[in-house]
Order: sequence, then C-alpha cells, then structure tokens
Amino acid sequence: MAAYDIVIRNGKVADGTGKTLFAADVAVKGDRIASIDSPGTLRGDNEIDAKGKVVAPGFIDVHTHDDTALIDNPTMAMKASQGVTTVVCGNCGVSAAPYLRPDVGHWMSLIIKKKENLSKDFAEFAGKVEAAKPAINGAFLIGHGTLRINMMGDDLNREATQAEIARMRGLLDQSLEQGAIGMSSGLFYAVSSAASTAEVAEVAQPLGKWGGVYTAHMRDEGDHILKAMEETFEIGRRAHAEVIVSHHKCSGRSNFGRMAETLPKFTEAMKKQQIAFDVYPYIAGSTILRTDMLERADKVLITWSDKMPGMSGRDLADIAKDMGVSMKEAGERIQPAGAIYFMMDEKDVQAAMSHPGAMIGSDGIPFDAHPHPRLWGTFPRVLGHYSRDLKLFPLEDAVRRMTSYSAQRFHLTGRGQIERGYYADICVFDPATVIDTATFEKPTTPAAGIDTVLCNGAIAWRDGKPGGGRAGRALNRRQMQDEAKA
Ligand SMILES: [Zn+2]
Repeated sequence: MAAYDIVIRNGKVADGTGKTLFAADVAVKGDRIASIDSPGTLRGDNEIDAKGKVVAPGFIDVHTHDDTALIDNPTMAMKASQGVTTVVCGNCGVSAAPYLRPDVGHWMSLIIKKKENLSKDFAEFAGKVEAAKPAINGAFLIGHGTLRINMMGDDLNREATQAEIARMRGLLDQSLEQGAIGMSSGLFYAVSSAASTAEVAEVAQPLGKWGGVYTAHMRDEGDHILKAMEETFEIGRRAHAEVIVSHHKCSGRSNFGRMAETLPKFTEAMKKQQIAFDVYPYIAGSTILRTDMLERADKVLITWSDKMPGMSGRDLADIAKDMGVSMKEAGERIQPAGAIYFMMDEKDVQAAMSHPGAMIGSDGIPFDAHPHPRLWGTFPRVLGHYSRDLKLFPLEDAVRRMTSYSAQRFHLTGRGQIERGYYADICVFDPATVIDTATFEKPTTPAAGIDTVLCNGAIAWRDGKPGGGRAGRALNRRQMQDEAKA
C-alpha cells in the first residue's frame, strides 16, 4: 500500500507565501498535506500528474454572498471551477444568521432564496451548512443590517436606540461565541444608512473580545470616499477589531484616478492599525438597481427583475428606448431588480489590486438570473489576464493575494499555504492557459486551465466538472483559534 492517499506529481509549487515556484511532489493523507518532497519521490494510491502545471493552495474568496448557496448548490461549481476552496460569506451587512423574523423580507431575499435556510442562531446555521456537505469550505460573518432588521423591524430610517444596540450586540456576541468569524456592515444600503458611526462601533464591541474581524461595504465609494474610510477605520479602532474594506473602488467617472488619494491613505492608516481590503478584477460593479446610481455609470446591465424576468441580461438604455421613457423611469418600472454598473477606471482597479493591503474577493452574487461574470471568473482572471498577460504582478504574488494573505487577514488557521500539516486545500492549474471565460454576455461559463481542486483532501473539481468530493466545512473561529494555539 502506498504511504499517501493522493500524490500530486511533477508540478511546480506556488506555496502561497510568494516564494518563487519550485518543483516538488505534494502528498495528501486524509484531510492534510502530509509531505512535500523532490519530484518523483512520493507514492500515493491516487497519483495526479501535474507536469507543466502549478500546484497552489486552494483560493480563498474573501468576499462572497454564498451563505446559502453552500446549502442549495453544494457542489459550488461556480467557485470550485475557479480553484476556490473557501468562501467568506455574510459580507455587506447581510447574513443568513442569526435571523429572528418569520418572513424572508426584501433585504434578506437579495442573497437568500429559501426561508428554511435562515437560522435563528449561528450554530444552527453552521449545522445546516455541514449537513449539506458542500464541496468547499465556508467561513461566516454576521451582518449588521441583518441584526438591525431583527431588532428594529421595518423602522430602519433612524439610529438604533441604546436598548436595540444592546440586543444587537448580544446577538453578535452569541454568534461569535458559536464560531462566526466577525461582523460586516453595509452602511451604503437603505437598511443601515441611518446607523451612526457610534451605533456600528457599539454593536461591534464583541469583536475585540473574541478576535473577530470587521468588514465594511462603506457608506460611500464615490465623492465622499475619504470620509467613509475614516469612519470605517474609526469603527475598527473603537471595536478593537481588524478592518477589511470590502470591494475597494472609486466609483463614478468624476472619481476616476482617485486611487491616488485612497491608496496612500490606506498605506498611512495601515501603520497605525490592522487594515486590509479586497478587490475584484473588473471595472464594473453589481448590486441592487438604484436609480440614484445611474448617472455615475457609463452603462447599466440588468441582472434580475422580479417583476419582468425577461429584462435580465439587457442594457437598461435599450430597455428605456423600447419603453420610450428615460433610463430612470425604465429603472423604476422594472423594480425590484439588480444591476451591473460600469463605473470604474481600469488604472484604478490595477492600482488597487497591486497595493500591499489588497487581496482578491469576487463579490459574486450566486442567485442572480444573469450574474456579473465575477461570480465564475474572478480568480482565473487575476492569474491569466492580470498576472500572466498584463504582468501586473508575478504569479507567485497573485497566488499570495488569493491564499496566505487572505488566510492571515481572516484568521483561517491551517489554510492558504502548501505546507506540511496544513489542510489539503489545493488548486492545480495550467499557468499557460488559465483564464476566465465568463463574460458580461455569457456570465456562467467555467474558467479554462483549472485542472484539479482539492478541499480537505477530497477532489472538488476535476477535468472541467465537479469531482465528487464533498468535504467542505463550516469553519469555526473558536476551533481555528484553538488550532492556532496548539
Ligand atoms: Zn458590498
């Protein structure tokens, strides 16, 4: 009998730390990386030939809304096909737990399609994820917007009272105790925009006690972005929490080029407190359709419309022409809806991605009828388009920004590196051919060049289709902290 379950032979290892590629065999036993040794020296029951390929840690998608996609679509093809082995869920202030109301409601329905997937406490939700046996891991943030809805009902256009803040804080504390990894806020959105800086900082207090992170879809990503950054950093300081700014962008033509202001501000602030940010590799963003956002976008595509499903995938300008009305009026007529906004400068996107504080997150929205292509394309696009073709950064650094750096920032112990004893989350890809194929016209096609993806030692993706491995877990912050100490 061979010593190992799986040996990935003859590949070049990008170990996730940024270290130069080196030739090695990588052996897996159970759910761990058991050995890394000279090419041709290791034997396994299952040997995967990686000649000409790169063996990297599985990618960590730090910005997702996949909370319940892990339950509804447990093969997680849209992520496993990119080499992703862990998704950080619950971003932008919306999470599937803890949720106390009987109805799903509009805000929650943006990312959650089935009522039975919502849970009143985090432990129950984590149990549902594990019961679904997803192919990849999930780690979970608690949404401040979700906490608000729990405690304030529909009366959201005001700051929370001290009593409401105390109850939200209690729910966050309980969730963190049960294993959630932090809290997210989305002050940009109507459910939370009336919240003051003090409200968020007060609710976030348990983060300091438990070592949870604070992620922020900031109040403003356009004209007032610098002020919004200050607010975000202040909340982190007041809660004694590490800060991660979500999907950093300078939105709208009048703000093109302003990474020249925001990035130095990050650099300065990073000297004083722990701050990082995530970026997706596209000049278009996607969220709900808001007619007040139309003028800052060069082009708007519809991702879904409950009232008029046929509008999905269409340009709002064409819809307006057909209706014989303004874009704003057309937008109102198809509400509620989602949209893609072309509103960023390519040079800004590249500058953000290359900054020392940047890691990669897709911000893909899993249930959209015609999603932004980032849902299926983010990680191969960084590797193929930005690293290989544009030479924005070396392959080793691209991998680092998707693996070890992300694991460090979110405290995902034992993941994000090809290292003996680490979990066997591995992506084997062809550096010559890896590329996203999902486009704004055809957004749900699997990337090219992703060969084999292992999660906890099981094959999650292989030869262009799900590999049958369903070994993903709901990562538990307390368990990871214990492992970090051991
Ligand atoms: Zn967001």
